[in-house]
Order: sequence, then structure tokens, then C-alpha cells
Amino acid sequence: MLIDSHAHITDEKYGDGGKSIISSMAEDNLAAIVCVGCDRQSTLDAIAVAHSDARVFASVGVHPYYPETVTDELMTEFETLARDDKVVAVGEFGLDYHHDEYDRDAQIRAMRAQYELARKSKLPVIFHVREATGDFTEFLRGSAFPESGVMHCFSGTVETAKICLDKGLYIAFGGKLTYSNSHKLHEVAKYAPLDRILVETDAPYLSPAQHLGEINYPKNVSFVRDKLAELRGVSREEIERATAENTKRLFFKMKNIDTE
Ligand SMILES: [Zn+2]
Repeated sequence: MLIDSHAHITDEKYGDGGKSIISSMAEDNLAAIVCVGCDRQSTLDAIAVAHSDARVFASVGVHPYYPETVTDELMTEFETLARDDKVVAVGEFGLDYHHDEYDRDAQIRAMRAQYELARKSKLPVIFHVREATGDFTEFLRGSAFPESGVMHCFSGTVETAKICLDKGLYIAFGGKLTYSNSHKLHEVAKYAPLDRILVETDAPYLSPAQHLGEINYPKNVSFVRDKLAELRGVSREEIERATAENTKRLFFKMKNIDTE
């Protein structure tokens, strides 16, 4: 079965706090979903929904869009939340320079604060990095990741992937991989070692080519699996098994879930 390693199932677009997604997990071939926090409220929602079902897990984090909310007070609150059995990672956090108006220094400060939280909490990290390769690789060079981490919805080049892999990080592929014009990303999908790749949807965002313009759902992670199998010339089963094992190894608090 598949694991969607990154989704936002409590997003208001679903209108039911993720209940219908969870109720169809078995028929959708989903063994687990990691519901990722983007700010304080979505983090609290993710933890609550994780406690509603054994196959759902949560992370604590603040997206780079909201760096000013990453206060000492919030980090203290997150440190307590991170001890929860269902909280498997710190993130998503990182750098996003797509929009010019964002304060880059504030983003770097917020990234460093959450990196310190992950180290203190002994949890892996979930990185969101977009159009910020220079500052991010500089940060990577000076950092160590004893509990590892993942580059969520990776969108960089083979060269950037190599820097991340050399730091012990995993590479997660999302819907963008299914686009026929994602040539650089297809190269990364062929290059990354089988034991270091994850699949995800980032639902309700980033729908795969097969559902372009629609709200995305965790079950669509199957399209990412299929594209990875096609690009690497291996079976869908092999990708499914490897990515599930990799996710359980990285997010070690979920290592006992059944993925058969
Ligand atoms: Zn996300």
C-alpha cells in the first residue's frame, strides 16, 4: 500500500476536516497519511485528526509564508506538541522566494528556529524550498541532520538533489512529476537512489496532470508512483514498497504501521 507522506487533509477545501478522505483510505490503497502543519492552527488541527485514526500522523511547523509568527513562545509550544506520539516531524518550513514581497531575512530566521526545534525534539524535518536554492544550500552546508529530513515536493535539479542526498536527506516527489514538461525533475527521479525517495500529494494543492485544475486528494499519490515506475523502468509494486519503507524509516514514529 501507499503512504502519502505530505498532505493537508484538514484544509477547509474538503469541508469535513478530512473525514471522507480517512474513511476511504483502505479502498484507495493508502496505508498512511502524514498531515502537515503550516501554521499554529493547521498544526493543532493535524494533531487532532491524527488522533482520530491510527493511520494518520502529524507534523508541527510554520510555512515560509508566515515567518513573523515563528516566535520563541510558539517554538516553546511546538516543543511540547512535538513530544506527542503522533507527531512524526517538524515542518513544513524552509525558504520560498517565489513572491518578491516576502522578507527573506525573516524566512531564514524562521527556518533556523524550526531547525533548532527539530534538533531539540530529535525529529526529522520537512523542508519546503522554492526558488531559493542559493540561500538554502548555504544553510545546508552549515547544518547537520542526525534525524534526517525530506525535501518536500522537490523541484530542483540533479545537482541540488545531490547536495541534499549527500546531507542524508530524502527526496519527495509530488504531482509535478506527472507533467510531461517537468524534464529536470524527471532526471532527478531517475537519479535518486531507490532507498531515498518518497511520494506525496501536498493535497489539496498541486494536482497531478490527470486531475489538473481540480482539488487534489491523497489517493492521487498513485499517479506519482506510476510516473516514478515508468521513469525508472521498474514495477509499480517496487516503487510502492520502497517508498512506504523509506517513509517509515524517515518518520520513525510511524515505523510499526502495516503497509502490506
Ligand atoms: Zn504542504
